[in-house]
Amino acid sequence: MRYIEPHAHMVSRVTDDYDRMVLAGCEAVCEPAFWAGYDRSSVAGFYDYFSQLTDYEPKRAAKHGVKHFSWLGLNSKEAEDVTLAAEVVALIPQFLDRPNVLGIGEIGLNKNSRNELRVLEMQVDLAARHGQLILVHTPHLEDKLKGTRLILDVLKSDRRIRPERVIIDHVEEHTVAMVLDTGMWAGMTLYPETKCTPARAIDMLEQYGQERLWLNSACDWGRSDPLAVPKTAVEMKRRGHLAELVDQVIYQNPGRFLRQCPKFTL
Ligand SMILES: [Zn+2]
Repeated sequence: MRYIEPHAHMVSRVTDDYDRMVLAGCEAVCEPAFWAGYDRSSVAGFYDYFSQLTDYEPKRAAKHGVKHFSWLGLNSKEAEDVTLAAEVVALIPQFLDRPNVLGIGEIGLNKNSRNELRVLEMQVDLAARHGQLILVHTPHLEDKLKGTRLILDVLKSDRRIRPERVIIDHVEEHTVAMVLDTGMWAGMTLYPETKCTPARAIDMLEQYGQERLWLNSACDWGRSDPLAVPKTAVEMKRRGHLAELVDQVIYQNPGRFLRQCPKFTL
Protein backbone atom coordinates (compact mmCIF):
# COMPACT_ATOMS: atom_id res chain seq x y z
CA MET A 1 0.00 0.00 0.00
CA ARG A 2 1.11 3.56 -0.70
CA TYR A 3 -0.66 6.70 0.46
CA ILE A 4 -0.41 10.44 1.00
CA GLU A 5 -1.53 11.94 4.31
CA PRO A 6 -2.90 15.29 3.11
CA HIS A 7 -3.82 16.76 6.51
CA ALA A 8 -1.84 16.02 9.67
CA HIS A 9 -0.58 18.26 12.49
CA MET A 10 2.75 16.57 13.00
CA VAL A 11 4.16 19.26 15.32
CA SER A 12 1.85 17.75 17.95
CA ARG A 13 2.90 14.13 17.25
CA VAL A 14 5.89 12.08 18.40
CA THR A 15 8.53 10.72 16.03
CA ASP A 16 7.20 7.16 16.49
CA ASP A 17 4.14 8.31 14.53
CA TYR A 18 6.35 9.15 11.55
CA ASP A 19 7.86 5.66 11.74
CA ARG A 20 4.47 3.96 11.88
CA MET A 21 3.13 6.05 8.98
CA VAL A 22 6.15 5.24 6.81
CA LEU A 23 5.77 1.54 7.64
CA ALA A 24 2.14 1.74 6.51
CA GLY A 25 3.20 3.21 3.13
CA CYS A 26 3.02 6.96 3.67
CA GLU A 27 5.05 8.86 1.05
CA ALA A 28 4.17 12.45 1.98
CA VAL A 29 2.67 14.29 4.92
CA CYS A 30 1.00 17.68 4.44
CA GLU A 31 0.58 19.89 7.48
CA PRO A 32 -1.83 22.84 7.50
CA ALA A 33 -1.20 25.62 9.99
CA PHE A 34 -3.63 25.39 12.91
CA TRP A 35 -4.53 26.62 16.36
CA ALA A 36 -1.92 25.94 19.05
CA GLY A 37 -4.46 24.99 21.73
CA TYR A 38 -4.15 28.54 23.07
CA ASP A 39 -4.25 31.93 21.34
CA ARG A 40 -0.80 33.18 20.34
CA SER A 41 -0.18 36.57 21.92
CA SER A 42 1.63 38.31 19.08
CA VAL A 43 2.63 38.10 15.44
CA ALA A 44 6.07 36.87 16.58
CA GLY A 45 4.42 33.66 17.79
CA PHE A 46 3.20 33.05 14.23
CA TYR A 47 6.64 33.84 12.81
CA ASP A 48 8.12 31.10 14.99
CA TYR A 49 5.33 28.64 14.14
CA PHE A 50 5.65 29.22 10.38
CA SER A 51 9.43 28.76 10.73
CA GLN A 52 8.82 25.46 12.51
CA LEU A 53 6.44 24.29 9.74
CA THR A 54 8.75 25.27 6.89
CA ASP A 55 12.20 24.56 8.33
CA TYR A 56 12.36 22.25 11.34
CA GLU A 57 9.44 19.88 10.66
CA PRO A 58 10.45 18.92 7.06
CA LYS A 59 13.91 18.04 8.40
CA ARG A 60 12.42 15.91 11.21
CA ALA A 61 10.17 14.11 8.69
CA ALA A 62 13.10 13.51 6.31
CA LYS A 63 15.00 11.74 9.09
CA HIS A 64 12.15 9.21 9.16
CA GLY A 65 12.01 8.82 5.38
CA VAL A 66 8.94 10.85 4.48
CA LYS A 67 8.46 14.14 2.65
CA HIS A 68 6.80 16.96 4.58
CA PHE A 69 4.80 19.83 3.06
CA SER A 70 2.95 22.63 4.80
CA TRP A 71 0.14 25.13 4.37
CA LEU A 72 0.25 28.56 5.98
CA GLY A 73 -2.63 30.56 7.40
CA LEU A 74 -4.46 31.76 10.46
CA ASN A 75 -6.99 29.37 11.98
CA SER A 76 -10.49 30.73 12.49
CA LYS A 77 -10.19 30.07 16.24
CA GLU A 78 -7.70 32.96 16.34
CA ALA A 79 -9.60 35.24 13.99
CA GLU A 80 -11.50 37.31 16.56
CA ASP A 81 -8.54 39.70 16.93
CA VAL A 82 -8.77 41.23 13.46
CA THR A 83 -5.81 43.57 13.98
CA LEU A 84 -3.50 40.67 14.86
CA ALA A 85 -4.98 38.65 11.97
CA ALA A 86 -4.08 41.44 9.53
CA GLU A 87 -0.50 41.39 10.84
CA VAL A 88 -0.33 37.62 10.32
CA VAL A 89 -1.71 37.92 6.78
CA ALA A 90 1.00 40.51 6.06
CA LEU A 91 3.65 38.14 7.47
CA ILE A 92 2.76 35.10 5.35
CA PRO A 93 4.08 36.19 1.90
CA GLN A 94 7.70 36.06 3.05
CA PHE A 95 7.24 32.32 3.70
CA LEU A 96 5.39 31.42 0.49
CA ASP A 97 8.55 30.74 -1.52
CA ARG A 98 9.84 28.17 0.98
CA PRO A 99 10.27 24.83 -0.84
CA ASN A 100 7.66 22.87 1.17
CA VAL A 101 4.82 25.44 1.16
CA LEU A 102 1.76 24.33 -0.86
CA GLY A 103 -0.70 27.16 -0.28
CA ILE A 104 -2.95 28.97 2.20
CA GLY A 105 -4.62 26.83 4.88
CA GLU A 106 -6.25 25.80 6.94
CA ILE A 107 -8.52 28.81 6.81
CA GLY A 108 -12.28 28.90 7.27
CA LEU A 109 -14.84 29.37 10.00
CA ASN A 110 -15.35 28.06 13.52
CA LYS A 111 -18.29 29.89 15.12
CA ASN A 112 -19.31 31.64 11.86
CA SER A 113 -18.77 35.05 13.49
CA ARG A 114 -18.49 38.35 11.63
CA ASN A 115 -14.79 38.69 12.49
CA GLU A 116 -14.06 35.15 11.33
CA LEU A 117 -15.72 35.98 8.01
CA ARG A 118 -13.65 39.14 7.63
CA VAL A 119 -10.43 37.23 8.27
CA LEU A 120 -11.50 34.47 5.89
CA GLU A 121 -11.99 37.08 3.15
CA MET A 122 -8.55 38.54 3.90
CA GLN A 123 -6.92 35.13 3.51
CA VAL A 124 -8.84 34.24 0.34
CA ASP A 125 -7.62 37.55 -1.07
CA LEU A 126 -4.07 36.68 0.02
CA ALA A 127 -4.29 33.34 -1.81
CA ALA A 128 -5.70 35.01 -4.94
CA ARG A 129 -3.01 37.71 -5.03
CA HIS A 130 -0.25 35.12 -4.75
CA GLY A 131 -1.81 32.40 -6.92
CA GLN A 132 -1.93 29.90 -4.05
CA LEU A 133 -3.96 26.73 -3.54
CA ILE A 134 -6.49 26.94 -0.67
CA LEU A 135 -7.31 24.41 2.07
CA VAL A 136 -10.47 25.18 4.05
CA HIS A 137 -11.51 24.02 7.51
CA THR A 138 -15.29 23.78 8.05
CA PRO A 139 -16.83 24.14 11.54
CA HIS A 140 -17.34 21.07 13.71
CA LEU A 141 -20.11 22.63 15.74
CA GLU A 142 -23.78 22.21 14.90
CA ASP A 143 -23.37 25.05 12.40
CA LYS A 144 -21.30 23.06 9.88
CA LEU A 145 -24.00 23.40 7.22
CA LYS A 146 -24.37 27.15 7.65
CA GLY A 147 -20.59 27.62 7.91
CA THR A 148 -19.96 25.61 4.76
CA ARG A 149 -22.53 27.70 2.88
CA LEU A 150 -20.93 30.95 4.08
CA ILE A 151 -17.46 29.71 3.07
CA LEU A 152 -18.60 28.61 -0.39
CA ASP A 153 -20.28 32.01 -0.88
CA VAL A 154 -17.01 33.83 -0.08
CA LEU A 155 -15.03 31.62 -2.47
CA LYS A 156 -17.59 31.74 -5.29
CA SER A 157 -17.93 35.52 -5.09
CA ASP A 158 -14.20 36.00 -5.74
CA ARG A 159 -13.75 35.67 -9.51
CA ARG A 160 -10.01 35.06 -9.14
CA ILE A 161 -10.54 31.75 -7.32
CA ARG A 162 -10.65 28.65 -9.50
CA PRO A 163 -12.76 25.97 -7.80
CA GLU A 164 -10.48 23.07 -8.76
CA ARG A 165 -7.69 24.74 -6.74
CA VAL A 166 -9.69 24.69 -3.48
CA ILE A 167 -10.24 21.78 -1.07
CA ILE A 168 -13.03 22.02 1.51
CA ASP A 169 -12.09 19.74 4.37
CA HIS A 170 -14.04 17.92 7.11
CA VAL A 171 -17.11 17.39 4.88
CA GLU A 172 -19.88 15.14 6.17
CA GLU A 173 -22.99 13.59 4.65
CA HIS A 174 -24.94 16.85 4.72
CA THR A 175 -22.19 19.02 3.15
CA VAL A 176 -20.30 16.82 0.67
CA ALA A 177 -22.71 17.26 -2.27
CA MET A 178 -22.87 21.05 -2.06
CA VAL A 179 -19.05 21.21 -2.09
CA LEU A 180 -18.64 18.86 -5.07
CA ASP A 181 -21.37 20.76 -6.96
CA THR A 182 -19.17 23.88 -6.95
CA GLY A 183 -16.31 22.06 -8.71
CA MET A 184 -14.15 22.24 -5.58
CA TRP A 185 -12.53 19.23 -3.91
CA ALA A 186 -13.85 17.69 -0.68
CA GLY A 187 -11.82 16.17 2.16
CA MET A 188 -13.15 13.60 4.60
CA THR A 189 -11.53 13.59 8.03
CA LEU A 190 -11.35 10.27 9.86
CA TYR A 191 -11.65 10.70 13.61
CA PRO A 192 -12.28 8.06 16.27
CA GLU A 193 -15.16 10.06 17.79
CA THR A 194 -16.22 13.24 16.04
CA LYS A 195 -16.05 14.00 12.30
CA CYS A 196 -16.14 10.89 10.10
CA THR A 197 -15.67 7.18 10.83
CA PRO A 198 -14.08 4.94 8.16
CA ALA A 199 -17.45 3.31 7.48
CA ARG A 200 -19.18 6.67 6.92
CA ALA A 201 -16.35 7.87 4.67
CA ILE A 202 -16.55 4.75 2.50
CA ASP A 203 -20.35 5.13 2.29
CA MET A 204 -19.79 8.67 0.94
CA LEU A 205 -17.15 7.48 -1.53
CA GLU A 206 -19.61 4.88 -2.82
CA GLN A 207 -22.38 7.44 -3.08
CA TYR A 208 -20.60 10.49 -4.48
CA GLY A 209 -17.89 8.95 -6.65
CA GLN A 210 -14.17 9.08 -6.12
CA GLU A 211 -13.14 11.89 -8.46
CA ARG A 212 -12.55 14.94 -6.23
CA LEU A 213 -12.47 13.36 -2.77
CA TRP A 214 -9.58 12.61 -0.43
CA LEU A 215 -9.19 11.08 3.01
CA ASN A 216 -7.12 12.44 5.90
CA SER A 217 -6.54 11.77 9.58
CA ALA A 218 -6.12 15.43 10.67
CA CYS A 219 -4.19 13.95 13.58
CA ASP A 220 -3.26 16.46 16.27
CA TRP A 221 -2.87 16.46 20.06
CA GLY A 222 -6.47 15.34 20.62
CA ARG A 223 -7.94 11.87 20.27
CA SER A 224 -7.01 11.13 16.66
CA ASP A 225 -5.22 8.40 14.72
CA PRO A 226 -2.25 9.07 12.41
CA LEU A 227 -2.95 5.71 10.74
CA ALA A 228 -6.62 6.44 10.02
CA VAL A 229 -6.07 6.63 6.24
CA PRO A 230 -4.38 3.21 5.77
CA LYS A 231 -6.86 1.66 8.23
CA THR A 232 -9.71 2.97 6.09
CA ALA A 233 -7.99 1.56 3.00
CA VAL A 234 -7.99 -1.88 4.67
CA GLU A 235 -11.70 -1.46 5.40
CA MET A 236 -12.34 -0.52 1.74
CA LYS A 237 -10.63 -3.72 0.59
CA ARG A 238 -12.64 -5.72 3.14
CA ARG A 239 -15.80 -4.30 1.58
CA GLY A 240 -14.64 -5.59 -1.80
CA HIS A 241 -13.22 -2.46 -3.40
CA LEU A 242 -10.42 -3.13 -5.87
CA ALA A 243 -6.84 -2.19 -5.03
CA GLU A 244 -6.78 0.24 -7.99
CA LEU A 245 -9.70 2.20 -6.56
CA VAL A 246 -8.17 2.27 -3.08
CA ASP A 247 -4.93 3.58 -4.61
CA GLN A 248 -6.86 6.27 -6.46
CA VAL A 249 -8.50 7.54 -3.28
CA ILE A 250 -5.55 7.46 -0.89
CA TYR A 251 -2.66 8.19 -3.29
CA GLN A 252 -3.57 9.38 -6.78
CA ASN A 253 -6.35 11.82 -5.78
CA PRO A 254 -4.38 13.83 -3.22
CA GLY A 255 -1.43 13.79 -5.63
CA ARG A 256 -3.57 15.14 -8.46
CA PHE A 257 -4.83 18.03 -6.34
CA LEU A 258 -1.52 18.84 -4.68
CA ARG A 259 0.55 18.76 -7.89
CA GLN A 260 -1.32 21.90 -8.94
CA CYS A 261 1.41 23.40 -6.78
CA PRO A 262 4.61 22.60 -8.72
CA LYS A 263 6.54 22.22 -5.46
CA PHE A 264 4.64 19.01 -4.66
CA THR A 265 6.86 16.21 -5.98
CA LEU A 266 7.44 12.71 -4.62
ZN1 LIG B 1 -6.52 20.52 10.88
